[in-house]
Amino acid sequence: MASPASQTLSASQLETLAELGEERTAAVGDVLFQVGDRRYPLIAVLEGEVAVLDGAGNEIVRAHPSDFVGELNLLTGQTVFVTAIVTQPLRYIAVEREDLRPLLFEDGPLSDLLLSTFIARRERLQQIDGIGMDVTGPHSSESTMRMLDFARSNRLPFTWHDEEPEGTLWPVVRLPGGVELRGPTTGEVSRALGIGRELAPREEVDLVVVGGGPAGLGAAVYGASEGLETLVIESTALGGQAGSSRRIENYLGFPAGIGGAELTGRAVTQARKFDARTATPYRALALEQENGGYIVRLEEGHVIAARTVLLATGAQYRRLPVEGLSDYEGLSVFYAAGPPEARLCGASRAGVVGGGNSAGQAAVWLARGGALVTLLHRRADLRETMSDYLVRELERYGVAVRDRSEIAALHGDDGRLEAVTLESGERLPFSFLFLFLGALPCTEWLDDVVARDDHGFILTGNAIGADFLLETSLPGVFAAGDVRSGSTKRCATAVGEGAMAVQFVHARLANDVNAQRS
Ligand SMILES: Cc1cc2nc3c(=O)[nH]c(=O)nc-3n(C[C@H](O)[C@H](O)[C@H](O)COP(=O)(O)OP(=O)(O)OC[C@H]3O[C@@H](n4cnc5c(N)ncnc54)[C@H](O)[C@@H]3O)c2cc1C
Repeated sequence: MASPASQTLSASQLETLAELGEERTAAVGDVLFQVGDRRYPLIAVLEGEVAVLDGAGNEIVRAHPSDFVGELNLLTGQTVFVTAIVTQPLRYIAVEREDLRPLLFEDGPLSDLLLSTFIARRERLQQIDGIGMDVTGPHSSESTMRMLDFARSNRLPFTWHDEEPEGTLWPVVRLPGGVELRGPTTGEVSRALGIGRELAPREEVDLVVVGGGPAGLGAAVYGASEGLETLVIESTALGGQAGSSRRIENYLGFPAGIGGAELTGRAVTQARKFDARTATPYRALALEQENGGYIVRLEEGHVIAARTVLLATGAQYRRLPVEGLSDYEGLSVFYAAGPPEARLCGASRAGVVGGGNSAGQAAVWLARGGALVTLLHRRADLRETMSDYLVRELERYGVAVRDRSEIAALHGDDGRLEAVTLESGERLPFSFLFLFLGALPCTEWLDDVVARDDHGFILTGNAIGADFLLETSLPGVFAAGDVRSGSTKRCATAVGEGAMAVQFVHARLANDVNAQRS
């Protein structure tokens, strides 16, 4: 969809698209595509006008000559969320998805324009009520909250009705186009929306990457662009933890910082541009050796046979050890602070728990959004754990800091937080709580198959006597990013390790070929 923020195509860019696509005309009232369609072409307007409407018929925007109509689902293959209807006699160029993809490699400026506009449009669609899927289920239902998490982390536009639907299967999910699913898994919704590709019961690849965060995506981009048949398996949403970071200030090349969602959204788009295969949401359940290679067993019974494996499953937030926490999670207790949370907390009292930089960033962000923020941490001095620049920002934005503070209990009703009690007995009136308590490695599914350190992080390289720096105790199985013992837990290092792992994969495959020859 065209948006006021989008840019228009130059005359030479229209010519490029005309060479690839087909010129067509349409009359007033013609529907170019509608909510629920499985596919549509990129539409570059030459003459006339097109209106883009939501499912209820409300107008979102109009596209005029030199505008283009198209959104991220042109790349993802996701079902269409909106309807495009001709409002003035139209002459346009239609470029089919398959023809658009090669162009994104060849024409840098046009690729930049299209990709950044697709991402901006998706972010805008997410803010409009009534776009995308409709989820009905109460906040007390775990499967409803998991569905909302899935939609949020995949940046799928959705509307939530916090109520009990008829029947026993919750949530009820209505997809764009009207299909209704009762009690679906996130995988079923994902595939019904046409996201990612459905895996065959058994797939065979050169490299399977488990985890689609920065490390996994780094490996996907380098692996696919260097000719390895690469498959990324992700259990929740491509982008990993970094996707939930409000702003990443220390990523090389972005002196003004970059939103985590934008950075990882770009990475996903880049991986797709190189045709890396991504499969979500599929959870890896086991790693086993088979015929000199490996198999990764997934939820729903799929098996991936791979010559090499990259473990990039990252780490998960620690939860607060207090009773009833899950009643509040997703409603008034959160593990990330992005634009929706900042809007939610404006003019409310919010507590941020944690002494690290992510807690500091969240506190500043919420305070800037108009929340009255208190940061609680365990140590005597915040400077022991937080960067100086953030401590100064906390002062600048009026965040109250409480040293040596730990939460003992939550109080509220029906998932809505009213106050917390500290270990000291003091009661603080918070309507929202944000937890940034560090992370546990996502390695429980590996059992004893690869060697891990005392905290469960995967040992690699010298620490385990492996041939290559990022190789685990199993030859041909590598680990990169936060899940690796001794890693620096930063976005740039995770991406770097993912990229580096691909070089080791090549070396391992070459070694194996040489060993077979001799
Ligand atoms: C709020 C926040 C702010 C941050 N700010 C910054 C910052 O400013 N600068 C910075 O450099 N870093 C920052 N970080 C840290 C940075 O995001 C991480 O270091 C980085 O995301 C690690 O990347 P990764 O790919 O190793 O792991 P992750 O990003 O954790 O990705 C791992 C992925 O694996 C998936 N997965 C787990 N188990 C399985 C399984 N069994 N099967 C399939 N998939 C699985 C997960 O769903 C996840 O998507 C921040 C982190 C957070 C949470």
